[in-house]
Amino acid sequence: MFSRDTLARFQNLETPFYYYDLNVLDQTLISCKSASDKFDFHIHYALKANFNDVVLKSIKKAGFGADCVSGNEVKKAIEIGFDPDKIVFAGVGKSDKEIVEALNHEINCFNVESVQELSVINEVAAKYNKKAGIAIRINPNVDAHTHQYITTGLEENKFGLNQWELPACVEVLKGCSNLELIGIHFHVGSQITNLEVFKSLCIKVNELNTWFQEHGFDLKVLNVGGGLGVDYHHPDENTINDFMSYFAIYNQFLERRPGQEVHFELGRALVAQCGSLISRILYVKNGLKKNFLVLDAGMTELMRPALYQAYHKIENITADSANPIVSYDVVGPICESTDCFGKEVELPESKRGDMIAIRTAGAYGEVMASGYNLRERVKSVYSEG
Ligand SMILES: *Cc1c(COP(=O)(O)O)cnc(C)c1O
Repeated sequence: MFSRDTLARFQNLETPFYYYDLNVLDQTLISCKSASDKFDFHIHYALKANFNDVVLKSIKKAGFGADCVSGNEVKKAIEIGFDPDKIVFAGVGKSDKEIVEALNHEINCFNVESVQELSVINEVAAKYNKKAGIAIRINPNVDAHTHQYITTGLEENKFGLNQWELPACVEVLKGCSNLELIGIHFHVGSQITNLEVFKSLCIKVNELNTWFQEHGFDLKVLNVGGGLGVDYHHPDENTINDFMSYFAIYNQFLERRPGQEVHFELGRALVAQCGSLISRILYVKNGLKKNFLVLDAGMTELMRPALYQAYHKIENITADSANPIVSYDVVGPICESTDCFGKEVELPESKRGDMIAIRTAGAYGEVMASGYNLRERVKSVYSEG
């Protein structure tokens, strides 16, 4: 929902652009932080969901740590001012250069995704006379019941170690004097709306926490990842997640030992609802079977629908709401058939020049923008005040 003032402001701006409602962002952060504080849980925000400077500054200010998946994300987190002791670094393919940089920044933890990576980080750390804190990312084999393209916790996924590799992992660790095992790490997938999935994860984490204890490792950290889903269908009714219920599941089912820390890596749930992609209708094409709205924004600005058939709510924010309802396929200008934001979208009759808002675009939106078709880099606009 956009205020009259905001709409008036939009009229003078060139489209397309991302609009970030910083009030929605702040309210979301406050709600999440106060709920997690209640259970003494730590949160590292997953930068990959949105690494816009303005957004990151708010997140840092609210007291969150940073979860990075590339050397440049680590660098960015440091630049924004995140405390290195609250930065973790995950990813199946960390390059030697990225490992060196992260070591030099003295980050809190590397989330290690293969047995071979243990030896590589150990070698690099030895060379620079450093000790690297690490957590083993384990594939819990929990089905996230989410879209196949964004599930990550099954044995056939490329992420993390499988349980049967753990004895070998422990053997390798014994010979790695420049590593310190501080925890175990999990991440089962993204856009998870069924909280039962997190309960299944807790049960698995407990089992592995015990396994490590039996093998002589007193883990300091249980990192359960992120993945909490948002309501793409009702951005105005369900703007902020029920973080209390989410954390309560972990509080109830996770058996942390005295002194053990619990870490989370939320991305989407913190930033999705504060962002919208705003564009204008370039052309209306009325066909015999279909009507098309051709926007000045496309998959180069918001790739999620083309990449994994994601749903986003689409609104005509300038049409007279008294107009008759018409069904449109809402498409972008890019030369790809998948460049389509929504099929058979019911909107008030629309015309060239009307403004369209594609909602819940704050996560995995701007960060995935590309220069395909030599498109201009999409701009960002922020709420005032
Ligand atoms: C992407 C990712 C996250 C964040 O996932 P969301 O679904 O945005 O909460 C957390 N941890 C890891 C390791 C990730 O790759």
